[in-house]
Amino acid sequence: MKEFKAESKRLMELMINSIYTNKEIFLREIISNASDAIDKLHYESLTNKNMKINKDDFAIKIKADKKNRTLTISDNGIGMTKEELETNLGTIAKSGSFDFKEQNKKKENIDIIGQFGVGFYSAFMVSSKVEVISKSYNSTEAYSWTSSGIEGYSITKSSKETYGTDIILTIKDEEEYNRYLEDYELRSLIKKYSDYITYPIKMEVTTDKETKLETINSLIPLWRRNKKDISEEEYNTFYSDKFFDYEKPLSHIHTKAEGTLEYNSLLYIPSHASYDYYSKDYEKGLQLYSSGVLIMEKCADLIPDYFSFVKGVVDSSDLSLNISREMLQQDRILKTIAKNIETHIKNELVSMQKDRPEDYLKFWEAFGLQIKAGIYNSYGMDKDKLQDLLMFYSAKENKLVTLKEYLDNNKEEKAIYYACGTSNDQIKTLPQVEAVLEKGKDILLCPNYLDEFVFKVMAKYEDKEFKNVCSDNLDLDTEAEKKELETLNENSKDLLNLMQKEIDVKEVKFTSRLKNHPVCLSSKGEVSVEMEKVMNAMPASETINAEKILEINSNHPIAKKLQELYEKDQEELKKYTKVLYAEARLIEGLPIDNPTEITNLICDILVK
Ligand code: ADP
Repeated sequence: MKEFKAESKRLMELMINSIYTNKEIFLREIISNASDAIDKLHYESLTNKNMKINKDDFAIKIKADKKNRTLTISDNGIGMTKEELETNLGTIAKSGSFDFKEQNKKKENIDIIGQFGVGFYSAFMVSSKVEVISKSYNSTEAYSWTSSGIEGYSITKSSKETYGTDIILTIKDEEEYNRYLEDYELRSLIKKYSDYITYPIKMEVTTDKETKLETINSLIPLWRRNKKDISEEEYNTFYSDKFFDYEKPLSHIHTKAEGTLEYNSLLYIPSHASYDYYSKDYEKGLQLYSSGVLIMEKCADLIPDYFSFVKGVVDSSDLSLNISREMLQQDRILKTIAKNIETHIKNELVSMQKDRPEDYLKFWEAFGLQIKAGIYNSYGMDKDKLQDLLMFYSAKENKLVTLKEYLDNNKEEKAIYYACGTSNDQIKTLPQVEAVLEKGKDILLCPNYLDEFVFKVMAKYEDKEFKNVCSDNLDLDTEAEKKELETLNENSKDLLNLMQKEIDVKEVKFTSRLKNHPVCLSSKGEVSVEMEKVMNAMPASETINAEKILEINSNHPIAKKLQELYEKDQEELKKYTKVLYAEARLIEGLPIDNPTEITNLICDILVK
C-alpha cells in the first residue's frame, strides 16, 4: 500500500468537510469525470485519424448492486495507465484535466469541465472503499486502484475487456447512505445534477421481467439549442418543470455570448410573486452550470437584489466545476456575466413596457415594490438604472403612468406633484389634493409607504423636482393672490399667534389653496406628515415629528368667525382652535392625543 502525499491527506480532509457539505454531489463529480474522459478520447479521435472510434457508442453506465452495496459508474473514455492512476488519483490537487487543457489550449475549443483535482475524492463521503479499474486507450493492460480512505491506496494489475474506466464504490454501511443504492434516488440525482451531460447516462434498471439499460439524461440542454428551433411552449414547459411555477412567465430572455467570454443564459420573468417572495425566506439566485453540469442551485451573485424575482440558468464553459461559494464571489468571469445579465433584464423590461403594456402592468403589480425598494435601498445610487421602470397612479389620467409619461403629459409644470395616503380614493379626498386637482394639475397618487421615500432619495427626475402637494411651499398662486394672502396673514398676526400657542404646530396661517375645506395640515422641511406616520410605525425607531402647519381656508366662513372670536371671546377661540386642529389631523389620518377633551369641546360648541 502507498500513502497519499501528506498535503493530499490534509487537503482531502479539508475538501470533504468544507466544500462538499452536500454529500449527494459525489455522483455529479464522478459522472463529470467520466464525461471528461470521453471528451478526451473524442478529442484524440478528431486529431488522430488512425483511431477507429464510433462516437455513437460513447456512454456512461450506472449500476447499483444492493446485495453487495456497490455502485458502479463506467465510461468508455480515454482510460488511465498505471502511471496515470498513480499521478491522477494518488495526488490531490494534481489534476490531469487541467494539464490536458493547458496543453491543448491553442488547438481547439475543447470542453473539459474539471480544473482542480478534488472532485474524485468526494466519492469518499459516501463510500467505505473506492475501486477504480481502468484501461487506457493506448494500452492492452488494465489496472485497479483501490483505497479505503486517507490512509493510502494500492494499485494492482487487473483485467478489463475494453478501454475506459469503472469506478466501483462500496457504499458506507449506514442507513443514511442506503439511498445511493436505490434506482429512483440515483435517477433523480442524475436528473438534478447531470441532466445535460452530452453523453447518454444509462442506468441498468431491473423490473420483474427483465434488466435493461435506460437513458436518464436529456442530453442537450434547452439553453444550448438554437433560439429559432425552440417553440414558446418548450420555453414555458422548461420553466414550469424547472422552477415549479405553473403560471406562464411574462418573458424569457435567451442569450448566447461568444468571444472572450462564452456562456449561455436562459432567464425568465415570472408573472406573479411566489408566496414567499416578499418574505425573508426567499432566496434569490440563478442556477449555475459549468459546461452543462450543475454547480450551484442558487447563485446569488449573478443577480442584483432589485431583480431578485428573475429565475433562470447560466451555463459557462469558462467557469471551473469545483469552485466554492467564496471563490465565486471573487470570480471575474462571474462578475462580467452578472453585469451582462442585469443589462438584458433591464432591456427586456423596458421593451415590455413599450410593446406589451398589459404584461408590464402585471409585472409592475407583482414586482414594482422590489424596484422601488431598489432605488430606496441604494439611497438613489441605482436611480439611473431603475427610474424608467417606475410607475405611479396619475390622478388626471386615472391610470398608472411612468415618470416620463407624467412629464410628457404635463410639460408646462415646474415640478412633479404627488400626494401620499392609504389608498388612491382616500388621497383624492385630501383637501390639498382636491384643490390642486381643481387647478387642472396632475398629481401622482402614492398609497404605498415607500413611495415618498423613493422620491426623497431620487430628489429629481430629469430636471424636475418632486413636490408633495401637502407641503407648504407649493407656490401655485399668482403674484396678486400671494400679495393678498400675505397682507391677510400680516394683519392677523396676533390672532394666529394666539392659536399657535394652543396646539402642537410650528405655525398657523391663512391659505387660499383650499377650495371647500376649512382646514388642512401641511409640513415644512424634509419630513412630511406621511413620512412621520410611516417612520413612527416602524419598531425601535425614534419618534419623528414633521414640522406641521395648520392652514385655514381664507375663503371659508370659519376665517371670519375666528376673527370675530379674537375680538369678542378669546377663550372660545382657543376651543375652536383645538377642534380645528383635531379636524386637520383626522383628515391626514393622524391620531388625536386627547379625544375626550376634543369631543367635549365639540359638544360645548354644538349646544351654544
Ligand atoms: P478533476 O476532475 O477536477 O480534474 P478529479 O479529482 O475528479 O479532478 O480527478 C483527477 C483526475 O483523475 C482527472 O483530472 C482525470 O485525469 C482522472 N480521472 C478521474 N476520473 C477519470 C475517468 N473516469 N477516466 C479517466 N480519467 C479520470
